[in-house]
Amino acid sequence: MKEEKIMPFFRDILRIPRESGHEEHIIEFLLEFGRSRGLETKRDAIGNVLITRPASVGCESWPTVVLQSHQDMVCEKNGGVKHDFAKDAIDAYIEDGWMKARGTTLGADDGIGIATELAILDDKSLKLGKIECLFTVSEETGLDGAFAMSSDFFTGKILINLDSEDLGSCS
Ligand SMILES: [Zn+2]
Repeated sequence: MKEEKIMPFFRDILRIPRESGHEEHIIEFLLEFGRSRGLETKRDAIGNVLITRPASVGCESWPTVVLQSHQDMVCEKNGGVKHDFAKDAIDAYIEDGWMKARGTTLGADDGIGIATELAILDDKSLKLGKIECLFTVSEETGLDGAFAMSSDFFTGKILINLDSEDLGSCS
């Protein structure tokens, strides 16, 4: 998955408030994203969202893979910065090839995970088995979404978590 396919979705996500425990805007965005593409889309009572991409033709026998990211972000700002995490977009800019945020956390954790899943859901040219994209709530405040999830919310037996800081990590 190329960066240029992922970054437009990340930029969309930067505009959506998603403080832990107040994920209603990002939940709405994700539901609309899935439904507008005709993909099976559901949420549970706490706000976890699952969007399913059916297997490509010829890949129906491949195992289902679950991709997981979390909807919320750590919301911190520098002293004196006027930013309301309940409604303001993150003010991002590029410096020396790095994306940064003016005065606040950027939310790449786990905005990039979300954006990667959206890019995979959106790209019809990818030949894949069935993919279940899982977006959990309130990870940063204690994995509340993951703990509250029913065991039958998704069906895949292989889960890849897109929330690690270390390349190749299994934790
Ligand atoms: Zn995270």
